Amino acid sequence: MSEYRETDLLASVPDGLFIGGEWRPAEGGATLTVSDPATGQVVKSIADASVADGRAAMDAAVAAFPGWAATPARERGELLRRAFDLLQERKEDFALLMTIEMGKPLAEARGEVAYGGEFVRWFSEEAPRIQGRYGANPEGTGRMIVSQHPVGPCYLITPWNFPLAMATRKIAPALAAGCTVVIKPAALTPLTTLLFVKLLEDAGLPAGVVNVVTTTKTGPVSEEIIADPRLRKLSFTGSTPVGQTLMKQAAQGVLRTSMELGGNAPFVVFDDADLDKAVDGAMAAKFRNIGQACTAANRFIVHRRVADEFARRVTERVQGLKIGRGTEDGVAIGPLIDDRAVAKAAQLVQDAVARGASVATGGSAIDGPGTFYEPTVVTGVQAGSDILREEIFGPVLAIVPFDTEDEAVRLANDTEYGLVSYVFTENLARGQRMIERLETGMMGLNMGVVSNAAAPFGGWKMSGLGREGGAEGIHEYLQTKYTLTPNPF
Ligand code: NAD
Repeated sequence: MSEYRETDLLASVPDGLFIGGEWRPAEGGATLTVSDPATGQVVKSIADASVADGRAAMDAAVAAFPGWAATPARERGELLRRAFDLLQERKEDFALLMTIEMGKPLAEARGEVAYGGEFVRWFSEEAPRIQGRYGANPEGTGRMIVSQHPVGPCYLITPWNFPLAMATRKIAPALAAGCTVVIKPAALTPLTTLLFVKLLEDAGLPAGVVNVVTTTKTGPVSEEIIADPRLRKLSFTGSTPVGQTLMKQAAQGVLRTSMELGGNAPFVVFDDADLDKAVDGAMAAKFRNIGQACTAANRFIVHRRVADEFARRVTERVQGLKIGRGTEDGVAIGPLIDDRAVAKAAQLVQDAVARGASVATGGSAIDGPGTFYEPTVVTGVQAGSDILREEIFGPVLAIVPFDTEDEAVRLANDTEYGLVSYVFTENLARGQRMIERLETGMMGLNMGVVSNAAAPFGGWKMSGLGREGGAEGIHEYLQTKYTLTPNPF
């Protein structure tokens, strides 16, 4: 990958806020810098929005709402379809930009462009399918009309780990429904959102329909926008503690909220599993995105009869993973997002070992430049270890043995989270029992990756509220009206 290509690409990313259809500097010319976590080098300086900039973005979203809501659904869908087509043309730019600002290997970044793009295509097709109902009331005295309407201006907050997909998963259904938005990407990885919004502009986005604020003053800027009585909806993807804070703020205006929060996914391997499938699934569920996914398998709950064999096989695979900057050929493990992430992985492994676990491979941070942590396998993890309770968000695979199906279910459900679970068994009835018994919004049955734009993504318990994607996704941005009219006869 040539340095010139990276330089040209970075120069093509807008460095302003996008408000009311114009790129503009932040109030007072304030800027923030974005770094490449593989090198620690600053790659670009962009606008750092103030509270007043946030208000201006809301003004623009509010002003654009009536026009966009009245735009025929087919036209809204066609804008999204043009955006999808442009994304296919520019997919290499988006992949490289994500690798630079977030660190994931280029092959995975390409996968995210495909995945993130599917939300744009899916909702381009959903826009004209927004429908209502019409029918007689049971008494036969009137006709009931149930219609769907866009909720209004929305505030979208996204995390750093999937810079494109987390943005398209919110922007596309909002626009398809007829809503206007202000989006605030994470300050660590804002460039992909800026490049995507430029793409939307090229696709013919009307002024004010999408507005972007990049900021380090996240708390104050968000508080101002959420307190604005003209806001109708808050959609957040990020950690559970921040989600809880935002839900309290949203209570003031009784805002509609969608909350895609943290996870602590169990990965259960029964002794009747096909171990080849289970090992492949484990590698995908654990090491995709360097372990930094809300859907990452966090606890490998493995039947004692196959635990050693499973550990031996995953360890062998992990030892073959190439570590490096994601632009290098064959790299599977890029850097973690920052020093804090490395320190957290290290602390969780230390705690597990102190409580009796063994490190089968890895177990150390790698000296800089860049914020790397070795892909790691930890076996014999004991109950009470922090690694079983906290989201690891790093390339650490922790194995806990079990003896009975009931014990596996108890261990899997022993968490306040409920985003996704993975189960490996060749026994159909057992698989069906696990669908019934696991407290989880999503499940991979003999599969290590479940995400799909056509599916309702979302969690149970403290993993969140609402669904993104699927037939359900657009309803997060619609509100229902019921009208009664007299019997016309
Ligand atoms: P985070 O909660 O720290 O930040 C997420 C976003 O919220 C960022 O844009 C950040 O700037 C913003 N934010 C932080 N504090 C805020 C505040 N006080 N007010 C308003 N906004 C604030 O999370 P992160 O570290 O960026 O992402 C990792 C977390 O996201 C993990 O817990 C992961 O599980 C979760 N996640 C969930 C999903 C899902 O779909 N369920 C998907 C990806 C990530």
